[in-house]
Amino acid sequence: MITGENYIGAKRSALGKTKFRTTNPALNIENSWESIEATESEIKGATELAWSAFKTFRNISDEKRAAFLDAIADEIEALGDELIEVYCQESGLPVGRAQGERGRTMFQMRAFAELLRTEGWMETHVELAIPDRAPMPKPDLRKTYIPLGPVVVFGSSNFPLAYSTAGGDTASAFAAGCPVIVKSHPMHAGTGELVASAIIKAAEKTGMPNGVFSNLNSKGIEVGVKLVQDPKVKAVGFTGSIRGGRALYDIANQRPEPIPVFAEMGSVNPVVITQKALEQNGAKWADTYAGSITLGTGQFCTNPGLILGIASPELEAFTQRLAEKIVEIDPMCMLHPNIKDAYTTLKNEVTSQVGVTTLTKPLSVDVNYADQSVAMLNGATFLANPKVHQEVFGPFSIVVSCADEQELLKIIEGLEGQLTGTILAEDTDIISLRAIIDELQHRVGRIIFNGVPTGVEVSPAMNHGGPYPSSTDARFTAVGLDSIKRWIRPISFQSFPSALLPIELK
Ligand code: NAP
Repeated sequence: MITGENYIGAKRSALGKTKFRTTNPALNIENSWESIEATESEIKGATELAWSAFKTFRNISDEKRAAFLDAIADEIEALGDELIEVYCQESGLPVGRAQGERGRTMFQMRAFAELLRTEGWMETHVELAIPDRAPMPKPDLRKTYIPLGPVVVFGSSNFPLAYSTAGGDTASAFAAGCPVIVKSHPMHAGTGELVASAIIKAAEKTGMPNGVFSNLNSKGIEVGVKLVQDPKVKAVGFTGSIRGGRALYDIANQRPEPIPVFAEMGSVNPVVITQKALEQNGAKWADTYAGSITLGTGQFCTNPGLILGIASPELEAFTQRLAEKIVEIDPMCMLHPNIKDAYTTLKNEVTSQVGVTTLTKPLSVDVNYADQSVAMLNGATFLANPKVHQEVFGPFSIVVSCADEQELLKIIEGLEGQLTGTILAEDTDIISLRAIIDELQHRVGRIIFNGVPTGVEVSPAMNHGGPYPSSTDARFTAVGLDSIKRWIRPISFQSFPSALLPIELK
């Protein structure tokens, strides 16, 4: 049941006066439940409790932490239909998507539990002493990793489960031994509270220290800002817009003790289509990309928002077909009236630039529904105008017709950092692709051959991140087991007696 209260550790708390409701975007009405924004004293309560929980949690065995993660997955499942119903009412996303995302969220928790049960999961180094080494003896040196401390997690609007309360950031931080305070997303506060109740139950059932998890509601940005400024907080996980991620990154760096902010942000995910691919499979790729651009109403960070090719009649035909196919797909509801407004504003800003032609006719759509759209411009116009480079969060993509390969390479080289880059090509293209791949791989975190960027596998070989501004630190992934590395730091033990060493170094 949704009460609207915050969780300060296991205790429910509602001291604040600011109340808010989430929106059902499909019906364009407010949902019936109310949430209460956390106060300054509740924020302080959560960070202090997290700090005291850290002292116990960091020393809990891997096996016990694994049991906690498994229990979270079980408790999320036990929320049953209520979670699915609230998710759909707060996001406008269909039941199938809600069930799929719930499955992914539980899978992530269980995958980290499995990792903790794998012997040697932590990459330790043991170097025995060499007392007779000349000219200086070598001491016994052993390196391991320890958790950073309490982590604040900001979830995104477009993944109410998998990138939110019990999403990848929370799962990896718990696995690392860090308590988590979630700054609940105001667009899905009810979903967040239900998931928070599951985490609290799991913590109690598996004997975790009180304060290992807190969930704070917020209507505006103040709760998040105060959390990032709090000295007891030692790292931040963020998924959302570049504007939001950058603001929090700057706040964290202005603290007397700066802390890392792992922000996963927006991206236009460039796609390069070769002349041979256009000639031999242009129609197939147009149909496939109409699906990819509109998937989840285009509200994916991996949405392909920029398609690059060399000017030719085949590129024109591809773009024309893409425009025809994309409007055949039924328009879908966006996550929130604000997101729909932002989509309309940004799309209009991009398509009203000189030299940009919109190929789709405006569709008549219900309020909060997005009219999918495709636009085209030439390479010189693209290079000259940064306004057309920005992410339009929604079912929109822009095709750039480049004068030649040199111009295409110049565009790739000048792109801001991206989560993904894709190449659509034929086998006979392979040799000529080297220069494009060389340029593209330095702008992206994942490079795809003959596929679509939407769909992020949760597995050890996945990298989800990329050069700024797609993320604040391209050396780390937000998805997959390696994401745990964001929340730990190395420490060396020199000449330590065995009895005093951490167990993995003995
Ligand atoms: P958002 O507007 O940035 O919000 C994300 C969270 O950050 C919210 O809780 C928001 O709180 C908070 N926030 C935003 N600006 C802030 C500020 N200046 N100070 C403090 N807190 C702030 O993003 P969204 O609309 O939820 O998500 C859509 C964006 O996320 C898209 O750009 C998408 O590409 C990106 N995304 C990226 C990934 C990835 O893995 N890279 C995955 C999914 C989505 P308030 O709502 O209270 O402002």
